[in-house]
Amino acid sequence: LFITFEGGDGSGKSTQAALLTDWLEEGGRTVVRSREPGGTDVGNEIREIVLHHRGEITPRAEALLYAADRAHHIATKIRPAIDRGDIVIQDRYLDSSVAYQGAGRVLDATQVRMLSLWAAEDLLPDLTILLDLDETRARGRLDAARTRYDRLEAEAGEFHARVRAAYLDLAAAEPGRFLVLDATEPVERIAERIRDRVGTLLAR
Ligand code: C5P
Repeated sequence: LFITFEGGDGSGKSTQAALLTDWLEEGGRTVVRSREPGGTDVGNEIREIVLHHRGEITPRAEALLYAADRAHHIATKIRPAIDRGDIVIQDRYLDSSVAYQGAGRVLDATQVRMLSLWAAEDLLPDLTILLDLDETRARGRLDAARTRYDRLEAEAGEFHARVRAAYLDLAAAEPGRFLVLDATEPVERIAERIRDRVGTLLAR
């Protein structure tokens, strides 16, 4: 089972991924938790470049860096885990690329998706949980939680509004894969909704 968490920065992805992991492990399941960008040694080096490089990175180069991270991550860590029968819970995946590199930048969303699928040898998640949060609240949460913004987090609110709209479009296009949740609900309520859906998938 391959489950991904998506949403803007500050939407609570890591918190919910951790709660879901704990719940599954308590139920005796083996869980591999990972993230993109990052998740492997190579991926962490790429993460440093895409998030903290001081100069400009052109949009195509940036998209290819994320794709390179993904190709290595999926082939060396995620695919083997799925083949072993483990449950994979991942912060961000191809929908991040489509939302950020596609809608946020100047690239064509269809091409970004194709590039991602090529990199990941067509691996799609069984379930994608989108934690939907409007930009103003997201910024408030980040300001409260962090002292250091990465390159992209420092960008304008308008960019995040476009990313959010792109995420919602993706979810509308694939309602069977997506579970869209209001990230302003209490943490425990969101966790419960996620457990309901994952429980149903596991019972199949
Ligand atoms: O969620 P996390 O903090 O790991 O994401 C790091 C940053 O990378 C986020 O600020 C997000 O905006 C950006 N990102 C991106 N394109 C992706 C994945 C992440 O722009 N494909």
